[in-house]
Amino acid sequence: MWQTNWRESLWSQLDQSWDVIVIGAGVTGAGILRLLAPLGVSVLLVEKADFSSGTSSRSTKLVHGGLRYLGQGQFSVTRESVRERERMMREAPGLVDPLGCLFPVIKGASPKKRTAAVGLAVYDYFGHKWAHRFFERDDLLLLAPRISGDDLRGGFLYFDAVTDDSRLVLRLIREGVRAGGLALSHASADRLLLGMSGNVRGIVLRDEVTGKTLELQARVVVNATGAWADVLRQQVGGSRRIRPSRGSHFMFPSWRAPVAQAVTLIHPRDHRPVFVIPWEGVTLAGTTDIDHHQSLDEEPRAEWTELEYVLEALNLRFPAWRLSPEDMIASFAGVRPIVASGKGGDPHKESRAHVVLEENRLVTVTGGKLTTFRRMALDTLGAARCVWPELPLPGEGARVFEPLLDELPPTPGLDSAARRRLLGRHGVDAAEVIAAAGPGELELIPGTESHWAELRWAARDEGVVHLDDLLLRRVRLGLLLPRGGVPLLERVRSVVQSELGWDDGRWESEAAAYEALWRRAYSTPSE
Ligand SMILES: Cc1cc2nc3c(=O)[nH]c(=O)nc-3n(C[C@H](O)[C@H](O)[C@H](O)COP(=O)(O)OP(=O)(O)OC[C@H]3O[C@@H](n4cnc5c(N)ncnc54)[C@H](O)[C@@H]3O)c2cc1C
Repeated sequence: MWQTNWRESLWSQLDQSWDVIVIGAGVTGAGILRLLAPLGVSVLLVEKADFSSGTSSRSTKLVHGGLRYLGQGQFSVTRESVRERERMMREAPGLVDPLGCLFPVIKGASPKKRTAAVGLAVYDYFGHKWAHRFFERDDLLLLAPRISGDDLRGGFLYFDAVTDDSRLVLRLIREGVRAGGLALSHASADRLLLGMSGNVRGIVLRDEVTGKTLELQARVVVNATGAWADVLRQQVGGSRRIRPSRGSHFMFPSWRAPVAQAVTLIHPRDHRPVFVIPWEGVTLAGTTDIDHHQSLDEEPRAEWTELEYVLEALNLRFPAWRLSPEDMIASFAGVRPIVASGKGGDPHKESRAHVVLEENRLVTVTGGKLTTFRRMALDTLGAARCVWPELPLPGEGARVFEPLLDELPPTPGLDSAARRRLLGRHGVDAAEVIAAAGPGELELIPGTESHWAELRWAARDEGVVHLDDLLLRRVRLGLLLPRGGVPLLERVRSVVQSELGWDDGRWESEAAAYEALWRRAYSTPSE
C-alpha cells in the first residue's frame, strides 16, 4: 500500500477537486476516513506529522466507559463509551481485547463499597452484561498479592478493554485507503482557502518533507485536529474553545511492578484514578491531568512532578515494590483536547464529551475519547450535511472494522495467541506480515510482544517517513525497551534499512534524531 515512493505517487494524485478533506490523522480523522471511504465519495486525510502522532498514540490504551464519568454525572459519555467498547471487542479481537480491572475498596476512603457497587452495576447495565464481582480482602490479595494493607476491605473485579492506540488508528486508515480513500502523512493544512464570502473552500497543503505547497479544493473540509482544533478555527473567526490538558504515563518493567490485571488506584492527593495496566509485556502507570502550558508545536513531555505524583499513588498501594524513578523504562505525555466549560478550576472535572461545530463551512470535531471515535465520526458526517447536503452517510450501525478470518492458518513458531494478535493489529495484512518474515523474524523482539517481522513489514509498507514513526508508533520499542531500544538499533537496522531504502548516511542521521527525541520527550523527566 505504502511502499517506497508512496508519498511522491500520492502527491501526483492530489490535484483534483475533493468531496471531503479531513485534516488530522488521529483516531477521529481516521474514523471519518474509514466510514466515508466505502460510500463512493472522494476523501483525503492529511496529517502534519506521522499518523497517530498526536494524542492518539499517547492515551492510557483503555477502550472503556470511564467509571469516573458516572461519578461526575456524565452518564451519556459512559453509556456511549461502554457500547462502543462492546462493539470494538466484537469487531476487532486481537486489537481491542477484554481487560480485567481491580478496584480496591479502602476503609474510610471514597468511593465506599456501596457506591462503587452501584456504579459498576450501571456500567454493566450499559454494556448489557453482568461482569463485575466483589472479592473480600483475602481473595483480593490472591489476585493482587503485593497490594497493601490494613485498610483494605476487598475490591471489585470488573471488565473494560485494552488496545494499542497507534495500531488502532493505523488499521482504520489502512482499511479506509483500501476502501478507496487517500491518506498522506507529514503533510499539513498550512492554511484554509477562503472564498469571497469568507467560506472555506479548501486548504493549502504543505509537504513537511520537501516544503512544497499545493492548493486543494473540497466541498467539505473537516477539522479533526484534536488539541490543535482552534488553530484552524481561528482562521474563520472562531474563538478559543480548547483547554489543552496534559496526561503523562510511566512504564516500568513488569518484574518490578507485576500486575496480572489492571488496578485502579485512587490518588490520595486529589482522589483522581491512577491506572496500573499490564500492557505489551510492561506495566504502564498513569495518568496525570494538568493544564498544558508547553507549546503545541513541541513534542509534549512529562515533568518530574508528574512522575512523583504517579509514584506516590503506586508506592502507597504497592509499598513492597519500592518503585523509584530509576526503575522507569520510559515516559510519554499526551494532550487532551478538552472543550472548556469556561468555569476554570480542575481540568479533571471538565467534560470528556465531544463537540461538532460548523463555522463558515469548516466542520470541526474535537474533544471526546479514543473509545468514542465512531460516534464522533457519525456526528461529524451528520453536521457536514449542512455544508454539502448530498453527502452520503453511513448507517448508524455500520461496522467499522473489516471482517476477518477467525484465525490465521497455523504457522510454525506462532501460537494461536500470537496469530490472533497479528490479525487484530494488522487486519487483512496479517498473512503478508508473516510471509515477509526473514529467518528468525517470527521470534519476539526481546522485552516485547512484537515480532521482528512486524518491524520489517512496517518499514516495507506502513508509510514510515522517519525512524521515530517506526520505533514509537508502528512497533512500540521506544515505550517498551530501556533507552528507547537504542542498544538494539544495530539489529533493527539489519532488518529494516534496506526495506526503508535509506543509505548509511540517512540511517545515521535518523538514528541520531530518534535518540535525541527519545531523551527529550520519553526518558525520565529531569528534576
Ligand atoms: C493522557 C491521556 C490519556 C487518555 N486515555 C484515554 C483512554 O484510555 N481511552 C480513551 O478512550 N481516551 C483516552 N484519551 C483521550 C484520547 O486519547 C483522545 O481523545 C483522542 O486520541 C483524540 O484523538 P484526535 O484524533 O481527536 O486527536 P489527535 O490524536 O491529537 O489527532 C489530531 C491530529 O491532527 C494533526 N494536526 C494538527 N494540526 C494539523 C494541520 N494543520 N494539518 C494536518 N494535521 C494536523 C496532529 O498532528 C494530530 O496527529 C486520553 C488522552 C490523554 C491525553
